[in-house]
Amino acid sequence: MTDDLVIQRPEGLYCPAGDFFIDPWRPVARAVITHAHADHARSGHTRYLAAVAAEHVLRTRLGDIALQTAAYGEGVTINGVRVSLHPAGHVLGSAQVRIEHAGRVWVASGDYKLQPDATCAPFEPQHCDVFITESTFGLPIYRWAPPTEVFADISAWWAGNAAAGRASVLFCYAFGKAQRILAGVDASIGPIVVHGAVEPLNAAYRASGVALPATQRVSDITDKTLFARALVLAPPAAAGSPWMKRFGDYSDAFASGWMQLRGARRRRALDRGFVLSDHADWPGLQQAIAATGAQRVIVTHGYVPVMVRWLRERGLQADAFDTEFGDAHEDAAEGAPAA
Ligand SMILES: [Zn+2]
Ligand SMILES: [Zn+2]
Repeated sequence: MTDDLVIQRPEGLYCPAGDFFIDPWRPVARAVITHAHADHARSGHTRYLAAVAAEHVLRTRLGDIALQTAAYGEGVTINGVRVSLHPAGHVLGSAQVRIEHAGRVWVASGDYKLQPDATCAPFEPQHCDVFITESTFGLPIYRWAPPTEVFADISAWWAGNAAAGRASVLFCYAFGKAQRILAGVDASIGPIVVHGAVEPLNAAYRASGVALPATQRVSDITDKTLFARALVLAPPAAAGSPWMKRFGDYSDAFASGWMQLRGARRRRALDRGFVLSDHADWPGLQQAIAATGAQRVIVTHGYVPVMVRWLRERGLQADAFDTEFGDAHEDAAEGAPAA
């Protein structure tokens, strides 16, 4: 076990040779961060290393941290161990962590997806001996439609509501999903207004050079008749809250991978559910794992036993790390399975 480049420690995933952690959940001296979602990037570490593209979103979430950045593919030596960050295609700045030491290569995926996303660099498979993978949607039922189809559906729903004089309130996670939707919808349909939790992330994306259509904070809008043609992006927590009253007549929807689950939309009593995820679906996970050429795979979160069994059936060495990564940051809906 001591030969392993990454092991489990109470603080998080740990590289003994380099004396650093990957996305630790307890405060540590040196943290390598795959991306700025709350369950991966926590406050309290002494030093942080993340991708250059993650800087604005990380600082928006964590404030004034001691942050070292590296360009994708750039090697950083930590206590004699070569570390590099490679695009994970999950959200802006998301990275896989490649660790090379004594002739061996391990890669920790963080969260990732293979589908196109106009707001971040595409996933780049890294050849490695051991691949540490997420498995958030690691069940055969999860298969995503092309995002262009989903965005066309969202735009059609918005246009229909606008024609009927109803606001279109779309619940989605404030970081990542919201910006991907902004970049994907037909912004000519009407004004786009966002919850106060969304706009700081929009600003971080724009500061990072990602083109997004114009957005207005809900609280800045004085002419309430504007809502009748508007697309409103809000975090799921706003659903059913007094915050919604201002919209008058509205249609509501939720954009999440969990919307593929029969009943998830109904349980939330939503008008629509759009299946849109920033995680790999079942074929995407398999494709990504195969592309690494890894003979050993370690599964961190999601449908872990299902994925481990599938990998073993294919003759790979497979096991699991018990992590505190969740899906609440990304795709959780009330009533989503505790995976
Ligand atoms: Zn994430
Ligand atoms: Zn995650």
